[in-house]
Amino acid sequence: ASWEKQVRHSATPRRPNGLSVLVTGAAGFVGSHSSLALKKRGDGVLGLDNFNSYYDPSLKRARQDLLSKQKIFVVEGDINDAELLKKLFDIVPFTHILHLAAQAGVRYAMQNPLSYVNSNVAGFVNLLEVAKSSDPQPAIVWASSSSVYGLNTNVPFSEDHRTDQPASLYAATKKAGEAIAHTYNHIYGLSLTGLRFFTVYGPWGRPDMAYFFFTKDMLQGKAINVYVTNDDKEVARDFTFIDDIVKGCIGALDTAEKSTGSGGKKRAPAQLRVYNLGNTSPVSVVKLVGILESLLSLKAKKHVVKMPRNGDVPFTHANVTMALKDFGYKPTTDLATGLRKFVKWYVNYYGIQSRLKKENDHSDDS
Ligand code: NAD
Repeated sequence: ASWEKQVRHSATPRRPNGLSVLVTGAAGFVGSHSSLALKKRGDGVLGLDNFNSYYDPSLKRARQDLLSKQKIFVVEGDINDAELLKKLFDIVPFTHILHLAAQAGVRYAMQNPLSYVNSNVAGFVNLLEVAKSSDPQPAIVWASSSSVYGLNTNVPFSEDHRTDQPASLYAATKKAGEAIAHTYNHIYGLSLTGLRFFTVYGPWGRPDMAYFFFTKDMLQGKAINVYVTNDDKEVARDFTFIDDIVKGCIGALDTAEKSTGSGGKKRAPAQLRVYNLGNTSPVSVVKLVGILESLLSLKAKKHVVKMPRNGDVPFTHANVTMALKDFGYKPTTDLATGLRKFVKWYVNYYGIQSRLKKENDHSDDS
């Protein structure tokens, strides 16, 4: 009963007409930031996360502690557990789901293909099955990915560009998610909004992402691999700061139509929407390393290597006109500013101020 009470309490909004949101992947990078921002507005937030060990689970636990200090409860469970989901929907009439739980990362898919199918395809279907039969039907905003544009080189990417050339299994499962969403919208009138995030970075970020492990390796004096394309072009990403992404998620939640219920007889079914959320300003990985060098006051040991065919794409760049028009999405943080905030968090979190100082002293030599 006390578990039920925690669930209900966490999900209850504290402002008039506040949302009641189930955030899946709440102990993750984007999930933890979004949960905190929603709670701050007075919305009700219940988290769900399976705390898997794809990357250091202690980082997920530390994010959970942050959430718990703000009275956000994170249920430990899997989106494939239909009984658990039904139980949560029996306790709380969620108005919205922010679905961020997924198996992320493109390279890991080569060793663990089924993990992607389980979380990004089966888990998503399981969640939609429960959502479609709950009353009221929640509006769903979920994380797709810029990776759906795959090997498309026609930049900047607009939402109507081709997405039939995924370069990784990760991208293929995100693309499958968009197709699955379409069917649940079409048949059951579920309100669904997909967000194609472009390389999100910032404090509390993911250790498997380049800006994160570059920082770690550079501080440890280890060499880093900087990829270039086979024709020696620089690899670049439309790095997008976490606070901008969170604003986009909230904008999408606030403008989501209500689900119309099975058949949507009285009204036209809610529209399926898909938006790019990027920074509209790609930066090369070489430049990224340069910014980190100046923030950390040290020189990286760089190996410039040709990008292997491991699921990575050479270039991403978002056109965000649609998100701007529909919910005022406007990224405001450039990479140097965002990375400064990341580095500040990193040295504080890993308690390496003293080491950084030492490194700073060293850099006087060069
Ligand atoms: P993350 O790995 O930090 O967060 C995902 C969370 O979901 C993790 O805490 C994980 O434990 C949880 N999870 C995974 N599978 C689960 C399951 N089956 N049941 C319950 N919980 C599960 O990743 P993130 O960077 O915060 O990404 C959030 C979403 O955004 C993901 O869907 C990801 O694919 C997508 N995305 C992220 C980026 C990015 O650059 N960070 C870019 C494009 C898309």
